[in-house]
Amino acid sequence: MYNKKVMETFANPQNVGYIEDNDGAGKVGNATCGDIMEITIKVKDNVITDAKFRTFGCAAAVATSSVATSMVIGMTVDEALKLTNAKVVEYLEGLPPQKIHCSVLAEEAIKEAIEDYRRRQKDKENK
Ligand SMILES: [Zn+2]
Repeated sequence: MYNKKVMETFANPQNVGYIEDNDGAGKVGNATCGDIMEITIKVKDNVITDAKFRTFGCAAAVATSSVATSMVIGMTVDEALKLTNAKVVEYLEGLPPQKIHCSVLAEEAIKEAIEDYRRRQKDKENK
């Protein structure tokens, strides 16, 4: 059902883990496959210096988390907000149609993590 690129990424995912002293964290899930995805990021001078994910989910969810986290490292937070699941799927050379919703999770989790980062920055400013 999955192509070779997806299977390879699933078998050897990058950036697996959880950043304890993260600057932003996002957790999302979908009921269809029961996927749960948590992404933590480190931000310095508005640039994402590290991103890690923990995914409890299907192969598509794991593969897209791996690709999405790799893509956002080195991006500014504004650039990372523009990352779409379409780009991630393109990098993976396609996903089965019924698995596209899993790729949306990675995009959503990154957006959540960035929103969390921005919230914390605001809190700091207000202190
Ligand atoms: Zn899934």
